Amino acid sequence: MTFAIEGWFAIDGDGACLLGTRCTACGTVCFPPRQGFCPNPACEGSEMEEVRLPRRGRVWSYTNACYPPPAPYVAAEPYEPATLAAVQLDEVGIVVLGQVRGLTVADLEVGMKLELTSGPLADGPLVWMWGRAS
Ligand SMILES: [Zn+2]
Repeated sequence: MTFAIEGWFAIDGDGACLLGTRCTACGTVCFPPRQGFCPNPACEGSEMEEVRLPRRGRVWSYTNACYPPPAPYVAAEPYEPATLAAVQLDEVGIVVLGQVRGLTVADLEVGMKLELTSGPLADGPLVWMWGRAS
């Protein structure tokens, strides 16, 4: 398996999960993972530990991408519009954008539960995607 971005997500027996970081001083959770300093302006923490983020969340916003993104993105020929969703993760509350697999904007509504899955980009590498919650 080739991942579109190494270190941002993993696939194991439970399925796909996003890899974030949590500040050991204040507990602030980040995605994508980061090192060196805490993004919380009220915290001087500098130690971030890797955490597996909750695999479920609720739709915060969504849209469709009717035009292919610019290079270096490799679009399928002919281009197929993609559905994108910003999903607020359960428990940690941060919002993570991703393509939606198997659903269109006609199927989505704000507040709907989605679950993390994965799928291939047009040129092959896997990326995280949002899918219908099981
Ligand atoms: Zn912190």
